[in-house]
Amino acid sequence: MSTLGILPPDERLVVATVRDFVDKEVKPVVRELEHADTYPEALIERMKELGVFGLAVPEAYGGTPVSTSCYVLLTEELARGWMSLAGAMGGHTVVAKLLQHFGTEEQRSRHLPRMATGGIRATMALTEPGGGSDLQALRTVARKDADGYLVNGSKTWITNSRRSGLIALLCKTDPGATPAHRGISLLLVEHGPGLTVSRDLPKLGYKGVESCELTFSDHRAPADAVLGGVEGRGFAQIMKGLETGRLQVAARALGVGRAALEDALAYARTRESFGRPIWQHQAIGTYLADMATSLTAARQLTLHAAREADQGHRVDMEAGMAKLFASETAMQIALNALRIHGGHGYSTEFDVERYFRDAPLMIVGEGTNEIQRNVIVSRLVERGGLDV
Ligand SMILES: Cc1cc2nc3c(=O)[nH]c(=O)nc-3n(C[C@H](O)[C@H](O)[C@H](O)COP(=O)(O)OP(=O)(O)OC[C@H]3O[C@@H](n4cnc5c(N)ncnc54)[C@H](O)[C@@H]3O)c2cc1C
Repeated sequence: MSTLGILPPDERLVVATVRDFVDKEVKPVVRELEHADTYPEALIERMKELGVFGLAVPEAYGGTPVSTSCYVLLTEELARGWMSLAGAMGGHTVVAKLLQHFGTEEQRSRHLPRMATGGIRATMALTEPGGGSDLQALRTVARKDADGYLVNGSKTWITNSRRSGLIALLCKTDPGATPAHRGISLLLVEHGPGLTVSRDLPKLGYKGVESCELTFSDHRAPADAVLGGVEGRGFAQIMKGLETGRLQVAARALGVGRAALEDALAYARTRESFGRPIWQHQAIGTYLADMATSLTAARQLTLHAAREADQGHRVDMEAGMAKLFASETAMQIALNALRIHGGHGYSTEFDVERYFRDAPLMIVGEGTNEIQRNVIVSRLVERGGLDV
């Protein structure tokens, strides 16, 4: 049975539709868009038409929600075509889930219907120039006064900064609080005076999608901007949101790994040396066998975490394991796909070099893999081992 067989028929259709979109509309143009570093406006519009931006929005707010397993598999499909497309909807999904879990009714009905259609898109702003791993040390401050909040500080590496009408901003509403996490809130922020996209960051891969620095200089946010309406809950809220984010990154890694394996397999079947297809050389055959094995293991680990999430369980450890293993796997598969392509692997006329540039983002983003290991071991000690 293919992996899709685990989904009910309606969700299978959703993933199959995205797969078809990738094969017919993404694959033919991806190399050109990648090398021009062009924002994929037309493809994003098509993703809106396909309803992709509403897949994490409850039906009551105009979305067509799917299970986490379905979400993982369709994200894999998008990333198989172009990791940038899957990345462009990552933060959006996390913010939709945050609103669903923690938003006030007013916040949900204000933002979710527009997010469901992609009419506005959302991103999350956590990382600061001073560091992204230690979120409790962040320095962006929102001070309350009679007119709401006055926000000052800066954020970096924020995906889709200009194109996101809604930014979930992690900041301190009580900078003196101890422990520090009690002073952290998530503010739902919109573009306006005092918020500047101050710089576009040049990068190795993840082309076509903007990654920017944001500067807040006396930016005004309304008094009801705090997610859930109560200050001091932002750290716990974002930790929950990152469970979804890390599953999304694991799924992106699966997509990059799968694309690299598919290309390497096709190449190894047609490229000949010493009078036979190169897959028949034991070294190359071993690479391919190991790539397929580790990719399958990564997908099972990711789907295990997704199923646990669908049952309403806390999945910080499971999502951390999936993100850690799938991203390291994608990196190894991309490297081996490059080796299998020989000199062509180093050519920008093939896609393999793109996988090799895209794979490392999944190792670093949404919490580095060192941080995932910290999460996994903390939870392991807390639980006293693995549940088997
Ligand atoms: C292309 C791209 C897109 C991104 N998009 C977003 C976005 O949309 N929103 C957002 O908020 N952020 C985004 N990020 C930021 C990303 O989440 C951070 O880069 C990441 O969390 C690491 O933070 P840092 O770069 O500050 O590294 P640091 O925190 O400075 O860490 C540096 C090194 O030290 C290690 N380290 C730090 N602390 C520990 C520890 N306790 N134990 C072990 N090792 C440790 C890290 O693992 C890393 O190897 C993006 C990053 C990139 C590259």
